[in-house]
Amino acid sequence: MKKNSTLFVSIAFISCSVFFIITSFTNKNNIEHPIKADKPNVIIILTDDQGYADVGFNGCKDIPTPNIDRIAKNGIVFTQAYVSYAVCAPSRAGLITGRYQDRFGYSRNPLYRPFDPEIGLSLNEQMFPELLQKSGYRTMGIGKWHLGVHEQFRPWKRGFNEFFGFLGGGHRYFPSEYDINHPDSAKNEAQSYRTKLIRNEQVVEGKEYLTDELSNEAVAFIERNKEQPFFLYLAYNAPHTPLQASEKYLSRFENIQDPKRKTYAAMVSAVDDGVGAVLNKLKELKIDENTIVIFLSDNGGPEKDNSSNNGVLKGAKGSLFEGGIRVPFAMQWPKKIKANTLFHEPIISLDIFATVAANINGGLQTKNPLDGVNLMPHITGTKKEAPHEYLFWRQFDQKNYAVVHASGLKQVILKDTSFSIYNLKNDIGEETNVSEQHKKTIELFELQRKKWESFTIPPAFLGLSQEEQYNKQKKK
Ligand code: CA
Repeated sequence: MKKNSTLFVSIAFISCSVFFIITSFTNKNNIEHPIKADKPNVIIILTDDQGYADVGFNGCKDIPTPNIDRIAKNGIVFTQAYVSYAVCAPSRAGLITGRYQDRFGYSRNPLYRPFDPEIGLSLNEQMFPELLQKSGYRTMGIGKWHLGVHEQFRPWKRGFNEFFGFLGGGHRYFPSEYDINHPDSAKNEAQSYRTKLIRNEQVVEGKEYLTDELSNEAVAFIERNKEQPFFLYLAYNAPHTPLQASEKYLSRFENIQDPKRKTYAAMVSAVDDGVGAVLNKLKELKIDENTIVIFLSDNGGPEKDNSSNNGVLKGAKGSLFEGGIRVPFAMQWPKKIKANTLFHEPIISLDIFATVAANINGGLQTKNPLDGVNLMPHITGTKKEAPHEYLFWRQFDQKNYAVVHASGLKQVILKDTSFSIYNLKNDIGEETNVSEQHKKTIELFELQRKKWESFTIPPAFLGLSQEEQYNKQKKK
């Protein structure tokens, strides 16, 4: 008996060794390491306040975006893609946690208060890069943060190995205007636009037109990490106000008469150059095949402020009509997604985390349950049903809600009193309220929405529009 088991162990040992030798041999002959092959690089390119119709792949004519369009051509365009809120910070909180931000009270644009530990994204939440970092990824955030400025909320405490950019909700674009020497010295949101840039805790002097500087950082990060899996969150503040562009980009738009639209176009064009530089770098390093690149805007265009264009969509940034929440959204992953794919079912930025987590090493376990879903089976067609039966939005202070159903029906509730139903399948501009024909639908949507709302909490802090109230409370 003892002899037999020794023999068995020896055979097992020999088999393992042979297997090991074979695997080592195969590894040397494979270009891609099998472990790395299961860890695609991930790049999210997020623009700020760009309109739905301000990319070539959604029909933009006056601003060429050939590089952003490359992502669409190389992969997939989601024609009915949403973000989880109609302004910057809550939308980003949803994206980076994969969960409705109403679950953890990040439902207002925050005040810029570096010494208030209450204003920031709950530390009970797991951010996307935290999970990837744990899984052996090198992670970097570039550009706009807006997820908490107190030191406990800063990017390098939330899963980013590196951060280059600024902590508030926006920034000026020319280094000569960065006249506040430290992020802690800014006393409010407006001042935060003028702080010097930071590389983690270190203050750095800006060198170039901001959009170019962020793009250069992105390319350098990719180059530095070509040998290992990486995650890059490239959060441009363009084309958010202030409208500022360098001559290099302005000169491309001599044909646009309206000075606001002209500057806006130049800002988008600068982003497009940056996207091109990122894509070129991936190709040059021959890592483009297994890199997921996702492009989207953080909310609809505020057409009056920055001259953006949401096309036929009703409403703008801040609104729960399509113009506030439906965004340009494209994704490439040449190894897994066919070129020139179109996807028409409703999806949401919350799906990004779920999709990435599910496609790394056979699926990563997240700390909290996600509201997003893995889009890959829907993209490849192995799952026929729509990714989401319902999507929900809530503006707590205004008492506004929206519900989108997979059928194309959408309910908009304003001030908790006006209830409308639109059929987005034939009325994308939300012109005709068809609630009379859908009385039963309203009841059903109400039921679903209340169920959804039962797991949300009120905002965890006072927001940017409540500064006066905040200051009064602090004086007490
Ligand atoms: Ca925004």
